[in-house]
Amino acid sequence: MTDQVGRTVVITGGSRGIGRAICLSLAGPDTDIYFNYYPEDPAAEETEKLVADMGGKAVGVCGNVASEEDMTAFFKKIIDETGRVDVLVNNAGITRDGLLVRMKEKDWDDVLTINLKGAFICTKLASKIMMKQRSGRIINTSSVVGVTGNAGQANYSASKAGLIGLTKTVAKELAPRGITVNAVAPGFIESDMTADLPEKARNAMLEQIPLGRAGQPEDVAGVVAFLVSDTASYLTGQVIHVSGGMFI
Ligand code: NAP
Repeated sequence: MTDQVGRTVVITGGSRGIGRAICLSLAGPDTDIYFNYYPEDPAAEETEKLVADMGGKAVGVCGNVASEEDMTAFFKKIIDETGRVDVLVNNAGITRDGLLVRMKEKDWDDVLTINLKGAFICTKLASKIMMKQRSGRIINTSSVVGVTGNAGQANYSASKAGLIGLTKTVAKELAPRGITVNAVAPGFIESDMTADLPEKARNAMLEQIPLGRAGQPEDVAGVVAFLVSDTASYLTGQVIHVSGGMFI
């Protein structure tokens, strides 16, 4: 189904990190990749170039996942240009860490709005298109901490736990239309998001990983590629941990 010729893939937050690796893992001559990012980031051009170097096509559009207006315009462009959406990967996310007692309301709101409401907005827009097609794959990027919790990340872990609830519910709603909805839950992955972690916190994280190393964006991208492949057509509503065994 999603391995079909001429598929359109939409990835949020594709300019850097895990999102870029997902763009590269799904790129190919018959795949139109559309990704967004926000705010303006020259890294987006690099993603487009890397995909083009592989013989694929990727179009980056600056737009905020938390803005219904921006995302409506983004999906309109995609439909105008390709007429379909076969895959949506809700990957865009931010952190604003701090202990709950000191957490500012804005830090709570920003994280919940981008990480969770952003996925709601994009899922709703993509679902309407996929329901007409009677096919589609949606992948949400949750996190191990959405399951385990993590001191200092009340806003982030709540947003990632919310994504798991969203995944399971939308999986049930869209299954009759031939659409599958799954989540990946990465552990500690090397990217800009984790680059500034103090040495002590980094070592504490590494100690929790049975496989003994941090993950790479490609580790997550490979699992996303599996979830959108024909091989995974009977899999829906699941959360796949990609964490080197951080949560077993
Ligand atoms: P990253 O390197 O910080 O990249 C974040 C991406 O999201 C960038 O492309 C950024 O665009 C985009 N973005 C941020 N806010 C946005 C918004 N409002 N609208 C549209 N795009 C926005 O992060 P990452 O490590 O690759 O993480 C990707 C996803 O994996 C996130 O959902 C994250 O929570 C999740 N995750 C990461 C880890 C980890 O260890 N790294 C672990 C578990 C889960 P710009 O380039 O324009 O800023």
